[in-house]
Amino acid sequence: MEIYDHPTFQMACRQFDLVADRLEIPETERDRIKYPKRSLTVAVPIRLDDGSVRVFSGYRVQHHLTLGPTKGGLRYHPGVTLGEVAALAMWMSWKCALTGLPYGGAKGGITCDPGAMSGTELEHLTRRYTQEMIPFIGPQVDVMAPDLGTNEQIMAWMMDTYSMHVGYSVPSIVTGKPVGLGGSLGRREATGRGVGYLVNRATDALGLDMSKTTVAVQGFGNVGSVAAWSLARYGAGIVAVSDVRGGIYNPKGLDLRAVEKFVAENKTVVGFPEAEPVSNEQLLELPCDILVPAALERQITETNAGRIRCRILAEAANGPTTPEADLILDQRPEVFIIPDVLCNAGGVVVSYFEWVQDLQSFFWGETEVVDKLFRILENAWSQILALSRKQNIPMRQAALSLGIKRVREAKRIRGLFP
Ligand code: NAD
Repeated sequence: MEIYDHPTFQMACRQFDLVADRLEIPETERDRIKYPKRSLTVAVPIRLDDGSVRVFSGYRVQHHLTLGPTKGGLRYHPGVTLGEVAALAMWMSWKCALTGLPYGGAKGGITCDPGAMSGTELEHLTRRYTQEMIPFIGPQVDVMAPDLGTNEQIMAWMMDTYSMHVGYSVPSIVTGKPVGLGGSLGRREATGRGVGYLVNRATDALGLDMSKTTVAVQGFGNVGSVAAWSLARYGAGIVAVSDVRGGIYNPKGLDLRAVEKFVAENKTVVGFPEAEPVSNEQLLELPCDILVPAALERQITETNAGRIRCRILAEAANGPTTPEADLILDQRPEVFIIPDVLCNAGGVVVSYFEWVQDLQSFFWGETEVVDKLFRILENAWSQILALSRKQNIPMRQAALSLGIKRVREAKRIRGLFP
């Protein structure tokens, strides 16, 4: 599948192959499980505020359709490519399967720099992309959600564009919408909250006292900031956070409320007065108990894997650790990994709740959402931990095995059409 050629796609394939080897999946069966079912690339022309017209590249990849509609985020970032989106779609498939959701994985993206665009330009971009995607999406076909660089407002524009096209309101076309439009209570917080829950379970398993732990978070966006708050509520001290411009570090602990106020005023954590500056690379190597990469893929590589100093690596981002880094970390049993497909699954779980609520036009309270979220995460966590311990395999292998096995089994039962 040369069209997907990209280091992140190769990484996702490599992870799949390792698990397929262990599960002894015959070569003849592998390609059907591994490669995306279909993808759409669109040119998205919009008029910019200065009157000129610019064409952006947009993508959507649907990894498999065996278990239901596909589900996955939409990313706005300058580095977005078809191959990156395909890798993220593949990971979504394993994530949905290991949490028992009736979805295949998908991902979308537009190659753009949302920070350099005005609100009007972003709205035009989002609406035109949604229009181009109409033959490819639908509440029973493919449902989008926020990811890096996108948010509730973007989802609201998508929902409106789709609804205007069909002629009636279709809230179930996207998740992660504002609550006032059919969004779910607790969706915005779900991914970070899930990270907090799973780290707490990991500290239990390792016999660590959460109130004595320190945390460094790379990427103080939606997921990273909520994860930081969630971990702080469990008693941990947040010592470092960062964003695309750089990071801040205070070994005595950061006042999260003050950091958030600073970010609201300055749009970055850089320059926060009660801390010393660190680069994103330095942040990953700081002494801490819990390291939370919550930004981009391929941050922990063969170069720095030997130098990270945490007890728990909680992968809030998708694909933050390369397979080469995994080989090094496999030799460092003192570092316990909560792999991405489990660690950040809280987001898609509550997206699923939002979709169910929209389809039924019957909405739940936040306590119900959080309770159901934690039950699903607990179930996945205990199965993966048990498998990892029983077979003496890394947590990532255990998590991916569970997801891949379920997709494989579903394909086997359905058979091959025609
Ligand atoms: P976001 O746009 O809200 O935040 C991203 C943060 O990362 C920002 O602070 C940004 O400045 C920072 N960042 C960007 N480039 C960086 C770089 N090169 N180095 C360091 N920091 C950088 O995005 P988000 O929704 O919080 O997503 C973060 C990660 O979590 C992504 O990997 C995404 O795929 C994953 N994820 C998100 C969700 C969700 O529900 N939003 C669910 C599952 C996984």
